[in-house]
Amino acid sequence: MSSIFSKIIKGEIPCYKIAENDNFFAFLDINPNAVGHTLCIPKEEVDKITDLDDATYTGLMAFSRNVGKAIESTIDCKRVAFTVIGLEVPHVHVHLIPLNTMQDATFLNKVSLTKEEFEATAKKIRAKIE
Ligand code: 5GP
Repeated sequence: MSSIFSKIIKGEIPCYKIAENDNFFAFLDINPNAVGHTLCIPKEEVDKITDLDDATYTGLMAFSRNVGKAIESTIDCKRVAFTVIGLEVPHVHVHLIPLNTMQDATFLNKVSLTKEEFEATAKKIRAKIE
């Protein structure tokens, strides 16, 4: 069965898309720790990051860094955290979380955004993708 993230890649489930290339996809997390919290995923459906082949692993990190730079230049934050958890969705994803305090990295404090706020945030980050 396809993961929820594979369904997002295929357009079967909507998302606030940030970036895409042949092998990777980035979109806003629906339950963000902070405004701009983004998920970067390989299109190939693999559960654990430790099971990725070398090329997909390094490609995912390069793709995530590029998206992270766009977030840093868009969102008011001290830096962007790269976090891998994966306990909820069994499809590798790197959380890119704009950080102002350590609390932003804890997954305990969440922010609530309207559809319009998600759309505006995605549009601003997309405009900075190189
Ligand atoms: P993890 O698997 O790393 O524990 O967390 C999965 C993340 O995916 C969570 O932060 C959650 O909010 C996000 N997520 C789960 N389902 C969806 C979805 O359908 N759309 C989006 N955009 N994010 C999701």
